[in-house]
Amino acid sequence: MRLAGCNLRCVTCDTAYAWKEGDEVSVQVLQEQLETFPCRYLVVTGGEPLLQAREMVRLLDLLPSWTLALETNATLWEPEILGRFSVVTASPKLPSAGVGPFPYGVFSRYVEAFSSRLQVKLVVGEGDWKAVDSLLKEYPSLGIEVPLVIQPLDRGVSFSQYQGEVGNMVETFLQRVGKWERVDVRFLPQLHKILWGRERGR
Ligand code: SF4
Repeated sequence: MRLAGCNLRCVTCDTAYAWKEGDEVSVQVLQEQLETFPCRYLVVTGGEPLLQAREMVRLLDLLPSWTLALETNATLWEPEILGRFSVVTASPKLPSAGVGPFPYGVFSRYVEAFSSRLQVKLVVGEGDWKAVDSLLKEYPSLGIEVPLVIQPLDRGVSFSQYQGEVGNMVETFLQRVGKWERVDVRFLPQLHKILWGRERGR
């Protein structure tokens, strides 16, 4: 479920349509729509879903038997709501996102309070590797207690170019991952782009 609105403006954002577009839907209607699906696993993403924290609580109250996962940019701190999710994916931004100094103080709270249900996803551009090294130094639990996903940035190039860039980045990744000495690190291309291209809603 993708919620509209975001408090950041990453220059690399691939869902900029979610900043302003979207339909206003009541939580009751949303619940009814969700109940038509055969699964009971809901991933809440955005935009930045915690911007609609109050409404989200009302929706989650209506889904007591669901397994819930959240994707957030980790700039907002809503501990009561975060505690409702089985998995929280925090995605702090690196220099390529172009959002200026990132509020790592808030991200630190995620690592301190939710490490048992947290995973961290970093969208990495070619110029971001030093920032990744620094981040791993600053947060020793990343890639050990907290799973770490490295996702090669899609600069909006063609599919074949993206494939080439992913190939180049995997080499750099493999050189670096040995030095990091972290066991729970995955390199994951943006699979939805590979499967569905730039089709919206995926
Ligand atoms: S935080 Fe996510 S949704 Fe918001 S601008 Fe950045 S990439 Fe886009």
